[in-house]
Amino acid sequence: MLLTDTHCHFDFDAFADDRPAHWRRAQAAGVHRLVIPGVEEAQWPGLPALCRQLSGTRYALGLHPWWVESASAQWQERLVAALDQAGPACVAIGETGLDVACKLAMTEQEDAFVFQLKLACERGLPVIMHSHKAHDLLLKWLRRFTPVGGVVHGFAGSLQQAEAFWKLGIHLGVGGTITYERAQKTRNTIAAMPLESLVLETDAPDMPLCGFQGQPNHPERLPLILQALAGIRTEPVERLATALESNAGRLFAW
Ligand SMILES: [Zn+2]
Repeated sequence: MLLTDTHCHFDFDAFADDRPAHWRRAQAAGVHRLVIPGVEEAQWPGLPALCRQLSGTRYALGLHPWWVESASAQWQERLVAALDQAGPACVAIGETGLDVACKLAMTEQEDAFVFQLKLACERGLPVIMHSHKAHDLLLKWLRRFTPVGGVVHGFAGSLQQAEAFWKLGIHLGVGGTITYERAQKTRNTIAAMPLESLVLETDAPDMPLCGFQGQPNHPERLPLILQALAGIRTEPVERLATALESNAGRLFAW
């Protein structure tokens, strides 16, 4: 059974001690593909080389809401230039999005998000989105500028919100949240959504799974998220794995 981790910050320091060894561990667990989202300017130039070094990895270019405040005045030009130079290993725009917990004013976050959303529309690329208590605002912009595809990563929310994203062709990233029994609303939502709307992710080293709190998350734990999903949807693991693989392939044209 082969799985794709559609959202893993594999370039972060948590994996710096020996990235190839961490990748081999993930591969040994059945993770054969992994998408590394871009989060800030300084990190963009290193992503192509990292993906050349680790077979089965792809990257995205974007500015995460947490890094908008520290971005240079030229970040937009730099993002466009990085996209111009990127080859087929760059599979999406992101990670972009909106976060109410971020101290930067929402209007400034929206400016950065909408710039990237328009870029995704122009380039025909899907968009990887971070949404923290900002689903409705994100939906408003997605209705205005609808990309070829996308994903709300680490989705947590209501069935109504999930359906609104899926109506716009936006997938839901299913991560460690569903391994916690207390996350009933999200678990019920994920159980009720069409299988074709879902993709798997770890968001490692963030979003630790239930039972692994306090430790950095790792892409090798992706199969545990699949198992939790099989439990809440009462569907066989193999059937889910096959469908989720084709969803990830369709989302990133990979
Ligand atoms: Zn992320």
